[in-house]
Amino acid sequence: MAGMLGVLGGGQLGNFFVLAAKEMGYQTAVLDPDPDAPAGVNADVHIVAPFDDAEALKKLATLCIAVTIEFENPPVASLEFLAQHVTVRPSPAAVAIAQNRREEKQFCQTIGLRVAPYEVLETPEDAERITHHGVLDSHLDPFRTPLIMKTSRNGYDGKGQRLVSHVSEVSQQWDSFGNVPCIVEQKMLLDAEFSVILARSESGDIAVFTPAENVHVDGILDISCAPSSLDSQILEQGKSAAITIAEELKYVGVLAVEFFVSENKLFVNELAPRPHNSGHWTLDAALTSQFEQQVRALVGESLGDPSMTSPAVAMVNLLGDRWTNGEPHFDLLQNDSSAHVYLYGKKEPRPGRKMGHLTMTGDDAHVVANQARSLRDAITK
Ligand code: ATP
Ligand code: MG
Repeated sequence: MAGMLGVLGGGQLGNFFVLAAKEMGYQTAVLDPDPDAPAGVNADVHIVAPFDDAEALKKLATLCIAVTIEFENPPVASLEFLAQHVTVRPSPAAVAIAQNRREEKQFCQTIGLRVAPYEVLETPEDAERITHHGVLDSHLDPFRTPLIMKTSRNGYDGKGQRLVSHVSEVSQQWDSFGNVPCIVEQKMLLDAEFSVILARSESGDIAVFTPAENVHVDGILDISCAPSSLDSQILEQGKSAAITIAEELKYVGVLAVEFFVSENKLFVNELAPRPHNSGHWTLDAALTSQFEQQVRALVGESLGDPSMTSPAVAMVNLLGDRWTNGEPHFDLLQNDSSAHVYLYGKKEPRPGRKMGHLTMTGDDAHVVANQARSLRDAITK
């Protein structure tokens, strides 16, 4: 055995990491407080404890030759503690930026990348200023509404977000968020969204996956397809922005950057310091999956070839809502060799919960996207 790799977080992303690591000859240890966490089942060791449990972190550091993450919110102090004993990738400093929307935006602006106009909302004075005086010193146009209030930390799948129809409501809405640090962002008219996922190795090599075009429904990713039919110039801008971000952060590992396209301009939405839902297609249609890249970057192996193995691919999420009438009819997929379903082994199919996904490969992204949607509808009628 080549050694044991650790991951903080035991969700589906952690599970795909565990499976990739296993295939490459590594043992795995997962730290997650949920005894039913999907990755816990397949890992050699599942440490069931909170992410800030000192004993659990010590155990992980002792067992593993290197540790990574599968979600952006483990305590940075835990990562820093681990980093004193074992290789941690990506670095705690990079994760700290990605887990705070304000820092993420300020970092992007500092390196010359455009983000949606926003205001920081952290003090009663901020609330007062935005609510009553319009917005000074920023690019937020108080007359262009609606706005979106987002908690600076712990948001995912559209959670921790609220539409604000007028600046006069900012104060009141902030109260209902318990006055935690937030940002208030202009709701943009989006032409499209896409993401760039890349891996960067310790030696600074970078492998970029084909950008995926993404459609979100109610703040949750619904479908990703690659290649994107967006203007190639804007996609290239996205790729080079993601590379700049990775280089500026001296990033080692897999990084996903979500972009908005609005009025033909590129805006960074957010960073994910880990593999990403919109890169699940790489399991079926890339020479190296995003999870294999995560393992390679973590252990210092050279990166794999990210090229696509199929002309086009689409991935649709299967949310818990699709279980309302019982288990979907997965048997209907048996005769379709271009479709592949993945279930994450979550017991409770709650609405909005990611239970699995379905990937379809074919010759044309638009066509496979429609096929994937129809197939999903057909199995969940
Ligand atoms: P996820 O975990 O799915 O990435 P999240 O909770 O981190 O989501 P965001 O990425 O900020 O949240 O927002 C989710 C989606 O909501 C975006 O992909 C986009 O579709 C929509 N959205 C967010 N902010 C804006 C905005 N300022 N203007 C227009 N649409 C937005
Ligand atoms: Mg997002």
